[in-house]
Order: sequence, then structure tokens, then C-alpha cells
Amino acid sequence: MTQKTPNLVERPPIVVVMGHVDHGKSTLLDFLRKSNVVAGEAGGITQHVAAYEVEHEHEGKLKRMTFIDTPGHAAFKTIRARGANVADIAILVIAADDGVKAQTLEALESIKSSGTPFIVAINKIDKPNADVDRTKYSLLEHGVYLEGLGGDIPFAPISAKNGTGIPELLDLVLISAELAELKADPDAPAEGFVIEAHRDEKRGIAATLIITNGSVQTGMAVVAGSSCAPLRLFESQAGMSLKSATFSTPIQVFGFNELPAVGSIFTSYKKRKDAEDAATDARAALENAHALDAQTGGFIIPLIIKADTTGSLEAIIGEVEKINTAESRYKVVSTGLGPISENDIKAAVACPEGGAVVAAFTVAADRNAIELARQSGITIEYFDIIYKLTEHLAAFIKERKPLENVQEVLGSARLLKFFSSKRDEHIVGAKVETGTIGKGAKFHLVRKGEILGTGEVVALQAARQQVDKVTFGDEFGAQIACDVAPEGGDVLETYRVSQR
Ligand code: GDP
Repeated sequence: MTQKTPNLVERPPIVVVMGHVDHGKSTLLDFLRKSNVVAGEAGGITQHVAAYEVEHEHEGKLKRMTFIDTPGHAAFKTIRARGANVADIAILVIAADDGVKAQTLEALESIKSSGTPFIVAINKIDKPNADVDRTKYSLLEHGVYLEGLGGDIPFAPISAKNGTGIPELLDLVLISAELAELKADPDAPAEGFVIEAHRDEKRGIAATLIITNGSVQTGMAVVAGSSCAPLRLFESQAGMSLKSATFSTPIQVFGFNELPAVGSIFTSYKKRKDAEDAATDARAALENAHALDAQTGGFIIPLIIKADTTGSLEAIIGEVEKINTAESRYKVVSTGLGPISENDIKAAVACPEGGAVVAAFTVAADRNAIELARQSGITIEYFDIIYKLTEHLAAFIKERKPLENVQEVLGSARLLKFFSSKRDEHIVGAKVETGTIGKGAKFHLVRKGEILGTGEVVALQAARQQVDKVTFGDEFGAQIACDVAPEGGDVLETYRVSQR
């Protein structure tokens, strides 16, 4: 296949609004929807939509940007977790009468970990108790260095309610976008992510997609994971029928064969058959992984490895097999020679288990791969010594191991006497042989080294007194609840379950 040089042009930014509850995210998004939505869409967008394009005049030119309208949708939890990853720019809204709060910090964490450029919107400046300076300092205390306060993070004091400062905020978004040099190729088949999906009673399964690269035309088909849809009918956010669309436009696509996952990446194909094949492959991979999981009950970490030579690749795969344990293992999803490519990252994203590891051994990653990895929250790990790679994988598998329930024995007592039984409740006399026996403790009833049943210590009596626990050497009376009738000589082994 010959590689065409991509025709890269400027791409409008995709913007997400984050911040603490009640600080004004929805009010800001509502304001933009009412005042700045692109001409033609205005009036058409009557209800809440997952994303929309707004336009704003900046340095004499009308510029577009796409806002992801996530607040208020429960189904967006996943995408909110990835919120800063799918967006090019984040606006951190912080109320000037409230300052930095828990979710402000959470949002900051997610913005920083994804490396997304962000702008601070100091909101509610119309309120009498708004204190912009105090808000700035509260940000400073949390390591957010605004412009003019020793840092370079742009900010705009705004009122989402009456619109003050919003043009300045949009200017800042566009300046950040220019700095980020967002580029995309209009001639490529479209790709992007699924931002919302639902069942439409009349028109089947519908999803809102945001295009981050390329274009779509009617006649093409889109695939998100194992879900696919022919592009017979697609619409703008205002419900207008479209024949084509490009970045960063959100589109509504109807006719998916299954509900695509919110936050998943979509790709598009010129031929419907190719799209269906891609979806079928993804489904097979998914089923395969589930089957393996069911077989082993284990924990799987997908692994993608690229290396410089087949020799090192084989050596690495051999080493990885040694790291696998009964409960956790790496599943080598794809391997290859040469730099990490966009396809490697797509393979990582498509892994149904999630959390794929992408390892580059003495190879680099190409620009598109780096960009897609950044967008999808995937880390590419680089190594040039095999044992460093295996060390890393061994440490990671330990970290990722699911917690297990472990039983810890607290004490044991031998039954000396058996007094009475009433259904599952028994009164017994016993002597502590090891550790302690506590009131309320769970126990195993052990006879001749075999666990016959389980139960609970209901009450304890020592020296004719009710007590909470008895220790080594104590003789005691106990009321126990147990599904197996105890006999003299049995051992009660008390235990506690903890997660490790
Ligand atoms: P969200 O939870 O961050 O989406 O916050 P909302 O947008 O729902 O806003 C919470 C409350 O603050 C609502 O009652 C809004 O009317 C109010 N609010 C939001 N922005 C402003 C503002 O700029 N000025 C004033 N006075 N109130 C605002």
C-alpha cells in the first residue's frame, strides 16, 4: 500500500467543562448553547445534546469549537473520568464565592494526568460575595499558577449567568487551541469517539460521535468496538440531515447493530463490508477474552509489544510467559517490528479488558500514535534492556492483581462438653487451644482435620460471667450458631476475612 501524505489543516478544538458541583458548569454550557451555537443549528437545538459546536469571532475571523456537554448525564460517568482525555482543552470552572473544592481538585488531577491544556473560568463574579482575588490565591495554594501570579495558566473572570467575560474566555480557548497546533486530515476516513448512545424507539440504536480526524460521507460505515452502523442517515445536533461531516463536528448516527460503549473510539470505512468485518473481529476478540477469563477465573492484562528485531521480540515473549501467575497474566494482543503505530494504540484501546500495556523495545512511537495514546489515556512504555522491561511488567502485574479474600485464623478451641441444641443453636463447653475466641466471631467446625461446617459465636461465658473474649488456656461455655451439630472433640477455629 502506498502511503499518501496527509493533507493537514487546522482543526477546531474539542472543549470540556469541568469543576465542582454547583460552580456553574451547566449554566456556562447553557449560555453558550443559547448565544454562540453555530448559525443554522441555533433554534434547532431545543433539548440537551451531548455536544455542540459554537462559534466566536477571534481576531476578525469566525472560529469554531466543540463543547462536550457532559454534566447532568449519569451515563457520562465513564467519559467524565476520561473527560480531559477526549478533549483538547479543558475549562476548569471555579465559583468566586466558593473557591477550590473537592471536585475542583479531582478535575485538576484528571486534567494534569492527561496533560490537557486548561483555562480557569472564575465564575459567578456578579455575586456580591464573589472574591476573585481570594479565588486566585486558593488556586495558587493548590499549585495552579495563573498568569500574572507567577504562572502561565490563562484565566477569565466570568458570569455564566449574564455572560460577562465569556467572549474573553472563548478567546483564551482559541489561543490555547492555536498553541496546541491541532491539525487533522479532511481526506482521511473519519475517526473520533462515541460521546453518547441510546435506543431511539423509532430509529433504532443511535449514538453521538465527535469526529477528531477525517471526514464521513453517506455510504460509508462506522465501527465502535464490536458495534457498527452504515451511514445511511446521520444528522447534525439540530436534527438536520447531513451528507458529509468533518472534524470536530458532533454527529448523530442511527442504525447501530448494538449499543456502542460511551467513550469508545470509532473508526470509519468506505465499504460497509470492511466495517462489518472489523466489528466481527472485535466481537470475536471480546468473546475469546471472556471465555479465557471464565476458564481461568484469572485477571488478564492485554500487552502490545513492538521491538527492533524478531530475536528480541521472541526473547521478550518468552520472559513474559515466566511472569504470568495462576491468577494474573499478560495476554499478548499484538506484536510487531518497528515503531509503535496508531494501529497499536487502536488495538490497545479495543481490548475489552481495558488497561492494556503498550511496550516499545528499542523502538520509538510515531506522532499519530503518541497523539492517539494521549487522547485515549494509554501510556507507551519505552525500554532498551530486556530485564528492565520484564521487571516493569512483573511489578505492574503485582500492582494490578485483584484483591483476594484471605482467611486469617484468630484462634481455636476444643469442645469438651455438649449441653444442648435447639435447631442450629448449640450450647457447648470448650477450652481455648490457640489465640483468642471472640464473641461474634465466625468459625469453622473442624472434625478430624476436616471442615464440616461454619458458624458464629453468639455468646461466651467464663467463670459464670458473660465475656467478650476468651484466650489461650481458658475454659468457657459458649452459645454457638452452626449448621452442623457439634460433637465432643471437635475444634472451633475462628477466623476473619480480609482482602489482600
Ligand atoms: P454545575 O453543577 O457546575 O453544573 O452548576 P450549575 O450551572 O447548575 O449552577 C449552580 C447554581 O449556580 C445555579 O443555581 C446557577 O443558577 C448558579 N450560577 C451559575 N453560574 C452563575 C453565575 O455566573 N452567577 C450567579 N449569580 N449564579 C450562577
